[in-house]
Amino acid sequence: MRAALEVADQQYMTEVHMLRSKIKAIRKSVLEMSAAAESGLHIGASLSCVDIIATLYFMKMRHSPYRPDWRDRDRFILSKGHAAPALYAVLAEAGYFPKEELKTVRALNSRLQGHPDLRTPGVDAPSGSLGQGISIGIGMAIAAKQRGSKSRIYVLIGDGECDEGQIWESLATAANLKLDNLVLIVDRNGWQLDGRTEEIKRKVPLTGKIKSFGWEAYSVNGHDIEKILDVLDLCELAEGPVAIIAHTLKGKGVQFMEDTNEGHKMRLSNEQYMDALKELEEAY
Ligand SMILES: [Mg+2]
Repeated sequence: MRAALEVADQQYMTEVHMLRSKIKAIRKSVLEMSAAAESGLHIGASLSCVDIIATLYFMKMRHSPYRPDWRDRDRFILSKGHAAPALYAVLAEAGYFPKEELKTVRALNSRLQGHPDLRTPGVDAPSGSLGQGISIGIGMAIAAKQRGSKSRIYVLIGDGECDEGQIWESLATAANLKLDNLVLIVDRNGWQLDGRTEEIKRKVPLTGKIKSFGWEAYSVNGHDIEKILDVLDLCELAEGPVAIIAHTLKGKGVQFMEDTNEGHKMRLSNEQYMDALKELEEAY
């Protein structure tokens, strides 16, 4: 028994190690997209949620790039659709389309537009008009229950996105329906388009506010993949919808962008790109 546990532990640590390597590659892909695109991308918001999306796709969700019609797969909705580069980089890493295609982001006729679009292999919902992701997720969660599917629905929203009234309407609805197959993750990076979230419209106590709607809610370091995994496991034991407040840094991994609004929407110069790559290499 003890030996079996040690083997399982070793396997888990190997998977976590492999995930860290993938996340490094995904961060590099996000930077590469920003340098290749002809116009600005939301790099800061992408880098803050890379660890969350990668952990979902590589360690938690049941999905396959080879089975797009698999009805009982888990679903992911990037409600903060402007962070599309993070999603595209994860989908490419997972094999949904060639990594080479990432360089076409935002180009005319590309399958990779500035916001997620159903033409992109692996994208489960179009998004970018903020506030709508949970509502879409609720629909998917109801549909899964109606057909007796074990499919789980994960929705990622931004903290600035919490200014949208629809977020709070959908929180009330999901709790009322006891949707235990729905998980909401808030990318709590503390910034939104016009500045610090607490200066634009106070969000704290965000966990308490969400709990008051009848949800279970947990706080986690959104860059600690083992902690993210622990809390995702807890979500599966809940009897209703669960929210994870993932505390993150906007621009995580690139010093001049970290915890600033510098990378809200930008195109990296060649010099910035090379410096950022060097920084990533040294950090991992
Ligand atoms: Mg934010």
